[in-house]
Amino acid sequence: MSEAPDTVERLREALIDLERSRRRERELRAVETSMIDVVRVLAVAEHRRETFASLLDALREVLPFQEAAILMRRDDGAFRPIARTGTWMSALQLTPQKMLTRVLDGQIVVTFDANLIPEWRAQSAEVQAQARSIIHVPLRQGADAVLLVCTHPQPARFEQRHIELVKRIVPLAGQILQKLDLRDVLAAREQERQARLAMFNAIVSHMQAGVLVEDSDRRVFAANDILRAMFRVGPGADELISRDASALHASFAAVTQDPAGVAERTEVIVAGRALVLAEEIALADGRVVERDYVPVSAPDAGFIAHFWQYRDVTSRRKAEEQLRRQAFLDSLTGLPNRARFIEEVNAVLRTLRRHPERRAAVLFIDLDRFKVVNDRLGHAIGDQLLMAFVDRLRRCVRDTDVVGRLGGDEFTVLLGDIRSQREEVRIAQRILDSLRKPFAIADEQFTVTASIGLAACTPEHRSAEEVVRDADMAMYRAKADGKDCFRIFDQQLQEQTSRRLNLEQDLALCLERQQLVVYYQPIVELVSGRLRGFEALVRWVHPTLGLIGPDGFIPLAEESGQILAIDRWVLETAAAQFVGWQARYPHAADLRLAVNVSRHNIMRGKYPAVVADVIERTGIAARCLDIELTEGSFLEDVTFARQALDRLRGLGARVCIDDFGTGHSSLSMLARLAPNVMKMDRMFLADVESNPTSREIVRSVVALSRNIGIGVVAEGVEAPAQRKILIEDGCLLGQGNLFSPPVDASTAEQIVADGNALGLRGHLRACV
Ligand code: C2E
Ligand code: CA
Ligand code: CA
Repeated sequence: MSEAPDTVERLREALIDLERSRRRERELRAVETSMIDVVRVLAVAEHRRETFASLLDALREVLPFQEAAILMRRDDGAFRPIARTGTWMSALQLTPQKMLTRVLDGQIVVTFDANLIPEWRAQSAEVQAQARSIIHVPLRQGADAVLLVCTHPQPARFEQRHIELVKRIVPLAGQILQKLDLRDVLAAREQERQARLAMFNAIVSHMQAGVLVEDSDRRVFAANDILRAMFRVGPGADELISRDASALHASFAAVTQDPAGVAERTEVIVAGRALVLAEEIALADGRVVERDYVPVSAPDAGFIAHFWQYRDVTSRRKAEEQLRRQAFLDSLTGLPNRARFIEEVNAVLRTLRRHPERRAAVLFIDLDRFKVVNDRLGHAIGDQLLMAFVDRLRRCVRDTDVVGRLGGDEFTVLLGDIRSQREEVRIAQRILDSLRKPFAIADEQFTVTASIGLAACTPEHRSAEEVVRDADMAMYRAKADGKDCFRIFDQQLQEQTSRRLNLEQDLALCLERQQLVVYYQPIVELVSGRLRGFEALVRWVHPTLGLIGPDGFIPLAEESGQILAIDRWVLETAAAQFVGWQARYPHAADLRLAVNVSRHNIMRGKYPAVVADVIERTGIAARCLDIELTEGSFLEDVTFARQALDRLRGLGARVCIDDFGTGHSSLSMLARLAPNVMKMDRMFLADVESNPTSREIVRSVVALSRNIGIGVVAEGVEAPAQRKILIEDGCLLGQGNLFSPPVDASTAEQIVADGNALGLRGHLRACV
């Protein structure tokens, strides 16, 4: 009998065991299932919240909790749920501290009955009611620690085996967290990338240029509307993204003036991957596009993109062109200015080099005495005259010839294609002839003449400047030869010019080097030959060229501006010597000293002050002084000249009109200037014996002087017959080789000392 209960007991125990093992098996299977679930969650884990919610769901199969939550420590140190099953959990305060510290150390802590822990009383009534069994599982440690908290309202719900189960889950949860964190980072990066891309695209679309960015595979990475319009690509630049960039370039090349060239160039640039800045491309419709190319590379990734910019610079080019045109055109006449003209001549010179059989020439035209017109009539009239001149000038040349204005009254013509020098000459003559008819401006008639220099373009000319310089030189020759004519440049002229340039250089130093001397020519009473005075005449004792007369250097000095210093020096030197003679020879007290002055000095207004200064410094009696001016001096501004002469007279000096009869409108000039003396030009005397007209003029001039009450001196008396005629006509004074040529100072003093009448015995001493 005793065996029976044992057997039953064993059976029961076996059953229990079976049941236990079955339960264990079930539980293990559940854990396995939940593990599979967890792994599945892990595999698809995308968002933390959902992932943890499914993790909690999966755990419910394994752990007998009523509520559960996963909490994460935030920056402020507090734990907040990132997933939870019930609502009350959000109110859970993670205390007590002691327990939490253990959890955070990595231990799984099971609380059998929280109500037995005094500190738990601090929790709200609801929490105390809901959470008597608690299991804390650390899923991750550290600053951003994560905990799993499961609760049950009944005590002692969690057992050791639960702890064992949870332990197996913890590493999995850790993996999930890690993966989610990585995803977080990637998501953040992706977000940032998207933001950057959006910003990049916004910049590209707002750029004032057409922008095209190709990736290293030559796919379009970015493009904007301006580019689309420029490339003539259909609407929606966005649609271009990822398209084949070379096809896009091809459609652009098609709208340019040189499709093949542009397409090829694009490929060359891409292949070379070199920075290309501001390359201009002409479009078929006339627009001009400027493109830049920059290969983009990143420090760690190497080459990553082709960056193109296309800018429509049509209006800028137009404005520049306009500016350039303005910069190259004379504002008054609209003619090419010097720079432009030079460019044109250079172009012709280049052509001539290739076609030596062709011929071209440059005319240099300078209006004669234009400054007088401008000064007298004002610039408005002057400008009108210039324009009227240009009008006529244009009609004298072919349309293909280039007419330029170098400035002021200087014009140039480029005869680009002519057959012979004869033809050039004909054109120059035609221009001079076109000026014969006066210009009608503002109800007045004006006549101008011009001096023209002509230079053919030759192989020796290295630049346009040289041709223009030669034509200019020839023009100067025309001026020197009396104006209103043309001269042709030749080698001889060049030599003359260089001689002249050398002389100009020497002249600059002649005063300093004391190379000037004053000669004196006696002025005598024609009847008695008695000495009445001297005319001071300057000479230049040049170290290599010898004695140079005033005609050889006075014009140069007038041009260089040195004439004031020279005239002043002559006046002062002569006055000082003259004063010495008067001091040494009392009978010389009534002698006169005549000094020449250049018209430049009179017209510049400084001369009267110079005379006053010399009078003071030398002590010469002003009443002995005659200031000689040539008639032509006053053409420019008679009123001004009259004022200057009046100032000289105010000093006590007399004023002589030199070379009387050679200038224009002599009579009216006499009336307006009221000189004290006139010196009759020796031209009339030269042929007075043979030419009845000259004979008549001499008679008239002497009569005129007597009638209007001014003195007259006959110049160039060489022969006794001339002297006789002058005496017959009633001329009192004369000078000339018959009496004495100009002599040096000591000879002149000898003449003063002698007191002899000159010319009677015909004695000539120290003649020059
Ligand atoms: P001018 O004032 O008419 O001077 C008279 C010129 O006639 C002088 O020439 C003189 O040598 C020359 N002559 C005198 N008697 C005779 C003659 O019987 N027959 C011929 N054939 N010629 C005679 P020169 O000295 O060569 O002077 C030339 C011109 O240079 C002067 O002409 C004068 O206008 C200018 N000149 C001379 N000295 C000066 C000066 O110091 N300053 C300025 N500004 N000009 C001067
Ligand atoms: Ca004179
Ligand atoms: Ca004279």
